[in-house]
Amino acid sequence: MQPKSDGIVIIGGGIIGLCTAYYAIQQGLKVTVIDRDSETEQSSSIGNAGMIVPSHFIPLAAPGIIAKGMRWMMNPESPFYIKPKLNWELAKWGIQFWKHANEKHTHAVKALLAELNLKSRQLFSELAEQEEFGLKKRGLLMLCKTQKGLDSEANIANIAKELNIHAEVCNSKRIAQLDPAIDMDVAGGVWFEQDCHLNPHQLMSALRKKIRQAGSEIIYQTEATDFITKENKVTAISLTNGETIPASQVVMACGAWSPNITHKLGKKLCMQAGKGYSLTLQKPTQLPELCSIFSEAKVAVTPIGTSLRVAGTMEIGGNNLDINPRRVQGIIKSVKEYFPKFQDHDFAEITPWAGLRPCSPDGLPYIGNMPKISNVIVATGHAMMGLSLGPITGQIVTSILTKSIPPDPKLQVRF
Ligand SMILES: Cc1cc2nc3c(=O)[nH]c(=O)nc-3n(C[C@H](O)[C@H](O)[C@H](O)COP(=O)(O)OP(=O)(O)OC[C@H]3O[C@@H](n4cnc5c(N)ncnc54)[C@H](O)[C@@H]3O)c2cc1C
Repeated sequence: MQPKSDGIVIIGGGIIGLCTAYYAIQQGLKVTVIDRDSETEQSSSIGNAGMIVPSHFIPLAAPGIIAKGMRWMMNPESPFYIKPKLNWELAKWGIQFWKHANEKHTHAVKALLAELNLKSRQLFSELAEQEEFGLKKRGLLMLCKTQKGLDSEANIANIAKELNIHAEVCNSKRIAQLDPAIDMDVAGGVWFEQDCHLNPHQLMSALRKKIRQAGSEIIYQTEATDFITKENKVTAISLTNGETIPASQVVMACGAWSPNITHKLGKKLCMQAGKGYSLTLQKPTQLPELCSIFSEAKVAVTPIGTSLRVAGTMEIGGNNLDINPRRVQGIIKSVKEYFPKFQDHDFAEITPWAGLRPCSPDGLPYIGNMPKISNVIVATGHAMMGLSLGPITGQIVTSILTKSIPPDPKLQVRF
């Protein structure tokens, strides 16, 4: 297809790119989305755990994560791993991650993360009035195997309440009442009532439909490789097939690949890909009604229609989608521990899926103008909250495009 545009070009058709297109269209803007993959590709925005998480106000660079991460590094089935290698980008990211993994930083960003997630939840509710994508507002159970784990989650629940996020600390009996459809072997947990879950595949299809109905184009199998600039502006984007696409404004929403493309404009974003896996059981032995996270194992479990999706692992090790069977085993093992009705044979025929989370070192997304280039906006770095923060990111980018409300300075392109 011959790309034509004299308007806004969004590079990247994941959840961030499509939400940006959707909210820009609502403001009467004309956009073109380009993505180097095909429409059927199972990107991060489709294979994820489908959770909408106001409960996630503590960034990835959390207090205590460095010590915990060191211990996890020794275990090949652990949920977190950084592949050691001599690489300047990784070293720079690691230093920033280390600098931010403390109470002071969490204190500085928790209210912003909570606010963004709550606003996004509201936008999901509004979208669900028009389109069906399996949104379920039943809350999330943060399940703890041990009393120590429960005490630690109870502390987080107290902070949640200060941020107006509903959190109920529950013993095992109360947890069983909240989700009687599943047998759980846990000491207790926290019920975050405002968290939700949805079907990511249906959500992406609904957004595509809305964008196309409004007369905007999504062009697949089209990769942006470089930019043509005049003074401090991009005027056109070079594509792999040798063609160019003119642009008045550009939004870069390339997920974990964003640093490669921002580099062409003189700024390599400080970001690493955080690989995760998911396993989707089409006929699960039991189907919970609520989504849950196994607190100690860092595994997420979500009922999606009649199927059950289990997701986990954060491997910082480059932009590859190779599957590490030991870590997949770690995920399966934890399901058997927390949900004892599940056995190895439940996972026998399941092909693991892998996806890359775009991880900034301080756990906040980058949403703002590209330094020194006046008509390029960056929207990425959402790590494990990209789905959850999709709609609010789309709205913030749209307000930058229309020059109405500037974004929070904490979100600007940094490092
Ligand atoms: C196992 C797992 C579970 C997760 N669970 C959740 C969850 O429950 N809730 C939640 O909120 N988040 C979750 N996430 C995180 C979430 O999936 C990501 O944060 C989100 O999908 C990132 O969206 P994105 O649009 O930024 O990137 P992507 O979905 O990766 O999209 C970027 C797109 O840009 C395209 N692209 C890249 N470079 C170019 C280029 N040069 N030209 C053209 N196109 C380009 C790519 O092809 C891709 O389609 C999970 C992630 C994983 C891996």
